[in-house]
Amino acid sequence: MKGYLDFDKIRELSGRDGESGAIHRQIIKLQEEVGETSAAYLAYVGAGNASATSLNKDDLRMELLEEVLDTMIVGADLVNALSVPGDEKEVKDLADRKLLKWSSKLSNIEARKREARMMEFIK
Ligand SMILES: [Mg+2]
Repeated sequence: MKGYLDFDKIRELSGRDGESGAIHRQIIKLQEEVGETSAAYLAYVGAGNASATSLNKDDLRMELLEEVLDTMIVGADLVNALSVPGDEKEVKDLADRKLLKWSSKLSNIEARKREARMMEFIK
C-alpha cells in the first residue's frame, strides 16, 4: 500500500477545504465513489446494464482502478477526519486488528478447502 498510495499526502490534504467537520459530506462522497466503482466494474465486465462505451478493455480496467483509488483516498480522508490528531497509534492498532481478522478468516477458508479436498481424496 505504501508503494502507491501516499497516506502522508492524504493527511496533509485532509481538511484543507475547510469542510473537515462535515463528516456526513465525506460519507456521502465515499458512497458516491463506491457507486462509481460499481459502475466502472459493470462496464469492465460488459454487464448488460452497463452504460454504453467505446473504451477498450484496458481503458475500462484503468477507469475501474481510478474509481477504486478514489474510494481509498476518500476513505483515508474520512479516517483522518475521525482520528484524534497526534494519535496515530489508535488508528494503526485498529487497522492491524482488522487485517488480523481478515487473515484469520482467510486461514479458516483455506483450512476448509484443504479438508474438503482430503474428503474428496478419501472417497
Ligand atoms: Mg470517482
